[in-house]
Amino acid sequence: MKRITILGSTGSIGCSALDVIGKNPERFQVEALAAGRNIKLLKKQIEKFRPKVVAVSTKESALKLRDSLTAKTKVKIFYNEEGLNEVASFPSTDIVISAISGSAGLIPTLAAIEAGKDIALANKETMVMAGEIVTKRANKKGVKIIPVDSEHSAIFQCLEGQKRQNLRRIILTASGGPFFNFTRNQLKKVSLSQTLRHPKWKMGKKITIDSASMMNKGLEVIEAKWLFNMDISAIDVLIHPQSIVHSMVEFIDGAFLAQMGVPDMKIPIAYALTYPERMINDLPSLNLVKIGKLEFLKPDIKKFPCLGLAYAAGICGGTAPVVLNAADEVAVAAFMENRIRFINLSEIIEKVLVRHVSINSPSLDDILRADLWARKETKKTIERIAL
Ligand code: MG
Repeated sequence: MKRITILGSTGSIGCSALDVIGKNPERFQVEALAAGRNIKLLKKQIEKFRPKVVAVSTKESALKLRDSLTAKTKVKIFYNEEGLNEVASFPSTDIVISAISGSAGLIPTLAAIEAGKDIALANKETMVMAGEIVTKRANKKGVKIIPVDSEHSAIFQCLEGQKRQNLRRIILTASGGPFFNFTRNQLKKVSLSQTLRHPKWKMGKKITIDSASMMNKGLEVIEAKWLFNMDISAIDVLIHPQSIVHSMVEFIDGAFLAQMGVPDMKIPIAYALTYPERMINDLPSLNLVKIGKLEFLKPDIKKFPCLGLAYAAGICGGTAPVVLNAADEVAVAAFMENRIRFINLSEIIEKVLVRHVSINSPSLDDILRADLWARKETKKTIERIAL
């Protein structure tokens, strides 16, 4: 029986993880859950999965949650950042699914590592912001970091049983998002609702917008650098509209290994929880005859400058990826409020990135300071161009 904590239980990954857990009650037990403001859904999850502790973002939400639960529901409720860290490091847990969206996932993931918990990592920002610190601390604590992101899970599976020194190149695949066929002119006019319609994956809003701008793939390049200890120059991106090959590796002899499957996050989530075992599920088998052909295309960085910006920040290293990520979070939030256009995203992020003086091998304080600085700079930049 594996005892599990989910950080971000009401999000897209959290819900899929609970679906996997709920179908395998003989294997998994939910120890702790952390959610933000979706108290209604968290209440349902508590009643179904009976965690020992939960965390919500504010005292107000904690009180609301307690009022909504019956007296016989035994669950300890924490709130605020300290409460979240409490839940992240809950003693009886074996593995923590880190699935909070955005930079808010970093500190609780570090708390879980510090407590010696294995991590099923769905929060790429943890690696983008603090890959050096996270990998160092995980090594020191003997903690396993198992990727949940479908591309990184694919690479992780391809590298299973392989000698690390034989790896030449990592090839991340990208669906291309809803706009990969659009011209730059068409991109100037796309709406928020168009952007939120991803052709292959059902995900949260922030990551869906990042997929449309290809920033998501850029963040994944940096995530891959730290997860697999690879130079950015040895990590390529290919557009693969069918989303069947989830990523590939190339070895020094020119052999490629690719991991394929239906695009459903429940597969990489379950693998992260059962690794190195596999588990039967109720998903349909991949029908390659029906799909017919698999295509691979070069991404157009002129059309999708966010990918180029992410490569630049990744190569620069230090705090540059922190700034990239923070600027993107603030810009995407402004786009969701219809304050800027889709094509402004990359312009804004670039403006902030060029003004930043990166610090090499940053401490956690340096990282948090760079994050804060980038948020302020981005807000100022947005005010200047807001619609
Ligand atoms: Mg991904």
